[in-house]
Amino acid sequence: MRNLNELVFDNRYATLPETFHTRLSPTPVPEPYLVAWNPDALELLGLRPEAVHTREFVEIFAGNAPLPGSEPLAAIYAGHQFGHYVPQLGDGRAILLGELAHPSGSRWEVQLKGAGRTPYSRGGDGRAVLRSSIREYLCSEAMHGLGIPTTRALCITGSDMPVMRESAETGALVTRLAESFIRFGSFELFYYRSQHDEIKTLADFTLRHYFPAQLDEARPYPALLAEVTRRTAKLMAQWQAVGFCHGVMNTDNMSILGLTLDYGPYGFMEAYDPAYICNHSDHDGRYAYDQQPQIGAWNCTCLAQALLPLMEVDDAKEALSGYGETFATEYMRLMCAKLGLPFEEASVPLVTGLLDLMARNRVDYTILFRSLARFDSSAVASNATLRDQFIAREDFDAWAKSYAERLRTIGSDDKTRAARMNRVNPKYVLRNHLAETAIRKARDERDFSEIERLRSLLARPFDEQPEFDDYAKEPPDWAREIAVSCSS
Ligand code: AMP
Ligand code: MG
Repeated sequence: MRNLNELVFDNRYATLPETFHTRLSPTPVPEPYLVAWNPDALELLGLRPEAVHTREFVEIFAGNAPLPGSEPLAAIYAGHQFGHYVPQLGDGRAILLGELAHPSGSRWEVQLKGAGRTPYSRGGDGRAVLRSSIREYLCSEAMHGLGIPTTRALCITGSDMPVMRESAETGALVTRLAESFIRFGSFELFYYRSQHDEIKTLADFTLRHYFPAQLDEARPYPALLAEVTRRTAKLMAQWQAVGFCHGVMNTDNMSILGLTLDYGPYGFMEAYDPAYICNHSDHDGRYAYDQQPQIGAWNCTCLAQALLPLMEVDDAKEALSGYGETFATEYMRLMCAKLGLPFEEASVPLVTGLLDLMARNRVDYTILFRSLARFDSSAVASNATLRDQFIAREDFDAWAKSYAERLRTIGSDDKTRAARMNRVNPKYVLRNHLAETAIRKARDERDFSEIERLRSLLARPFDEQPEFDDYAKEPPDWAREIAVSCSS
């Protein structure tokens, strides 16, 4: 375990030519303070827990003091936003401090989000508000707890500088960690500028540092595209299975490593509705829950397009062709497991049948799957707590009968099935009202304790943690007023 001044930086992204980034330092903020810090992330960096309680820590992660040896920069990228190509985006408010090497050999890029203006701010103020910083911090750790690939979060620092959104809000910075923040849009930028050498440079960089297995293949570029496609399809399957809706699946928010990236107006499915739109700014529902898998595929096609200068069209098509099968297989495998059933043909109608009924009855997605572990297959009529989640109780009865029959046929034992299901059906997800409560306490009372309570709860979402039963309940009525949008 190390102190801050013992950290060793090795910023590989900074070794890329100037076309890829702009070197600059964060813009300092007045009187920063620590809002939240994540012990799990400290461990990832090999940092001593005591390091947090120093003035140095706050100053560094507010962007006021340089991290010794770091080479801060903002990366340039482009991307398709809501289907339309935007030729230049970039880290408009994020600054990559550098890359830390953990003694174990793992490496983490450390990024400050909300660190001030950069050449890519496009009229924005380069800042992030406390509300959105808390949402990003909590959700990235919640996703990690769920076993879903994601960027991580180290800490939130706040400052009382007002940041203007629809109204004046408190500013904050969130420190994010990822092996790499390269996006699909990082490649698109150079494709649409016809800078084919740069596409090659970035692809080679990506292969060398993050895809060694693909680099070893006979044709590394198609192999890279195929692997990114595969990871993206798997990620979409995981999102769908847990009921996560990202909200802004623009290609600049798609990670080349297949991580969940850029948390904004996301939402977890509550009353099950396949057409659920979590982002209030998404008027056409382009990124609705049930659109995510096909948008994931569309985004991979954008990446393929950007990589065309490096491969034949047929190779690109071939690399993309695995998406549908990977997604369908992975999704059904996960859904079968959620029902405690083996991944086989005979389980499929039970999955789709249940989802249909859940949609018709607007059943809470997380609660239903969690409580399904307690399904009594020997006395179907005794499953009142499950049955009562359906407005039309008889809808459930017919399904329950065939579920019980199936469980009997395969010789499933209720107790072992329950244990298995509780490892894949979370009890706790980051419902909007839970985040909102933490946000209001932080904003109105400067009480940050709810952030840490949620972080540690959601780090173990499959554990019962009975003292937090209320956090597993359906949203209260006031939650209906919460509207999350692109403004952050
Ligand atoms: P997002 O929708 O958050 O993924 O952001 C899209 C683009 O806008 C990215 O290039 C961001 O860096 C940039 N951006 C978003 N908010 C701001 C802001 N407040 N100041 C500067 N740039 C921003
Ligand atoms: Mg973004």
